[in-house]
Amino acid sequence: MTIRYGLNNFKDNNGNGSLLLLQPMETRAVRFLQEPGEMAVLRRHYIKGAGYIHCNGSGCPLCQKASDEWGAPITIARDYFLAVLIDRTDDMVRVFEGGKTIKNKLLNFSRVNGLTEIDFNLRRSEGKKGKDLYDLIPIVKAPSPLTKEERERIKEVALDRLLKRGEKTNEEIEAILEEREAS
Ligand SMILES: [Zn+2]
Repeated sequence: MTIRYGLNNFKDNNGNGSLLLLQPMETRAVRFLQEPGEMAVLRRHYIKGAGYIHCNGSGCPLCQKASDEWGAPITIARDYFLAVLIDRTDDMVRVFEGGKTIKNKLLNFSRVNGLTEIDFNLRRSEGKKGKDLYDLIPIVKAPSPLTKEERERIKEVALDRLLKRGEKTNEEIEAILEEREAS
């Protein structure tokens, strides 16, 4: 498994973001704790019944079986990023898992101002075929850079653990595939 850093490393494909925290049509005020260049990017497949599994790159058994069709049992490898943020609704530090649809918005905002300079409203709506769409609306008051204490809060989330979720060796993946075929 390869974790890369920086949204400029993000390869566009059909992957959409998923954010477990937001209900459809819900909006939350957030403050990002990382600029896009600091965000972890990972590549993974989705297997029905087994969840997300990291793509092992060349020689990945899932790449050989993957399909890009809607509802495919094993999807092609897609890039996701993990962005650490402060959720202003309850002041908890959380991780937003995003995909293609919101990546460019983050990059564009960070080119104009630092992404960590202001709060944003993060909004979830429903896209085509029930896929989630996320939008990012800047809350512009006066600029209020992160304080040193707020910056430190990035340590409150177990980012390493989240990044390793779905990590399997090719042998483990083969075992999952065999089990699927047997059932
Ligand atoms: Zn793969």
